Amino acid sequence: MEKKAVRVRFAPSPTGALHIGGVRTALYNYLWAKKHGGTFILRIEDTDQTRYVEGAEAYIMEALEWLGIEPDESPKKGGDYGPYRQSERKAMYGQFAEQLIKEGKAYYAFDTPEELDAARAKVEAETEGKGKFKYDASTRMSMRNSLSLDAGTTQQYLDKGEYVVRFKLPAIHRDIIFDDAVRGTVTYSTEEMDDKVLFKSDGMPTYHLANIVDDYHMKITHVIRGEEWLPSTPLHVLLYEAFGWAEARPQFAHLSLILKPAPDSYLTKQNKPAMAEKFLNVFLSKQPEFAENKDLLAQTITQLFQDVASVTSRLNPKKKDKPYKLALKAFLKKSMSGKLSKRDGDLLGFPVFPLDWNGDEPFRGFREWGFLPQAVLNFLALLGWNPKSEQEIFTLEELVDAFDLDEVVRSGARFDYAKAKWFNQQYMIKGEDSALAEMMQPLATAKGYTVSKEYLTQVANLLKQRVEFIPEFIEKGSYFFTDLDFEVVKEKEGKNLRKRVLNKWSAEKSATFLDLHQALAQLADTDDLEPAVDAFMESKGLGKGEVMPALRFAISGTMGGPALYEMMEVIGRAKSLDRIKAFVEFCNAETTVA
Ligand code: GLU
Repeated sequence: MEKKAVRVRFAPSPTGALHIGGVRTALYNYLWAKKHGGTFILRIEDTDQTRYVEGAEAYIMEALEWLGIEPDESPKKGGDYGPYRQSERKAMYGQFAEQLIKEGKAYYAFDTPEELDAARAKVEAETEGKGKFKYDASTRMSMRNSLSLDAGTTQQYLDKGEYVVRFKLPAIHRDIIFDDAVRGTVTYSTEEMDDKVLFKSDGMPTYHLANIVDDYHMKITHVIRGEEWLPSTPLHVLLYEAFGWAEARPQFAHLSLILKPAPDSYLTKQNKPAMAEKFLNVFLSKQPEFAENKDLLAQTITQLFQDVASVTSRLNPKKKDKPYKLALKAFLKKSMSGKLSKRDGDLLGFPVFPLDWNGDEPFRGFREWGFLPQAVLNFLALLGWNPKSEQEIFTLEELVDAFDLDEVVRSGARFDYAKAKWFNQQYMIKGEDSALAEMMQPLATAKGYTVSKEYLTQVANLLKQRVEFIPEFIEKGSYFFTDLDFEVVKEKEGKNLRKRVLNKWSAEKSATFLDLHQALAQLADTDDLEPAVDAFMESKGLGKGEVMPALRFAISGTMGGPALYEMMEVIGRAKSLDRIKAFVEFCNAETTVA
């Protein structure tokens, strides 16, 4: 049999910002397509108008563009199988619903929401809350639909134009078995299913119908999506059968969830008290009825956070727990384990969205946080896929080459922010200085610094080993952009500054540094700074420890940082000399040395 060209689709619903889990789904689709010389399609599933959010589609496109995994066919780009927005395909779905009705595989239903609620309530009452109403072969004849009503009544309802089309599950239960590239053979029984709505009288299909009709017509070969869609898959399998498309059914691959990070990856000795307070405040904002227990809650959370490695296992409720403690434990359990959710980022202090989202509920993005797109792609690829080697750093081409659906892991993958940062740093170090400079430019401008790209390129070169994120170039490296305010330096670095410089300052030191200033001022532009400073120290019989700390504080206001002389060259000799002078004056004033 001739192998079909691989065609995969990423099919988000534009209901808000795209979560990082969705980005990973897009990435795996992209990798699978490219690995097989296939086609990566973006299809916007916007049939549920009640959940439509303005700006969400543009956000999705921008995120894929930023990451460099752009679709080959999409609403923006077009393609041979368009349109790629389901709302624009509206006219084609009705005929498929009708076809199923004609063939007795679906039916019209007229039950009002109130009637459905009543049916649910009745079953709940009869079973003391244990049972659930299901619209299926056992109940459908007692409901109002084209199977239970006569033709005339059915027509009357249809004329009113208020109906839905429901899929008719087989009366005799059977197993639905399909192969999943991640999970192996998956079996569901129709007993677990109900007669799902496929189409509504507003002319819109539901997700299930539109999804199958489109996958078939877009010649999709692999459906790679999140595991939340696994329970829908048996219905999809039945739909492929019902339409006579079973042969063309795509290979399914359901990706596991991305899980919250392990507490020991974000709770450190230093930040534990602050994090405990943050958790407590969020808890109290949700359950203000416990506000009066605040002190006890604070103690409890401190205790629970004591041993970070075991905290989640100690959150199970105990009989003797007081109500406030039970509530706190339940909140912590939800906040510290399970699926990585959109609000986790705010609480735990990292982004979970690719880009900033400025909707009603705003979120920070990896891009604005200062992550490089390649780093995001790299760590996302490894979040659930096992490359079967020690290799960690992969270019996009290498990912395409190495990626395999068979090696996608079945268990949930834990998001690890520390690891994400590590990847970012690796990419910063590897990155072209000029590319880093380009990303720094708007941030520098926003701070009011007027600097050339060449200048930023030099800063990037000196600092990239020392920062984790793009904005840190500007923040940590502020001394490259503005003159130092030594009062601020004193606030930040007081202890070090006193120990290394001020405690040893004297009139003699002051004179020495002014001499050094003079010696450096006399250098020709082509003379190197380092030998000049070395010669000066030797001539005065001074050790490095007596000169270097002061020079560093003078130039960058801190002890750490890149190589001193390189820093001075980038900042400029004249400016550096001015800083030395200003520093001497500051030290004189601080120590009241005349
Ligand atoms: N529209 C669905 C979503 O928002 C797509 C699921 C699928 O890929 O079939 O995730």
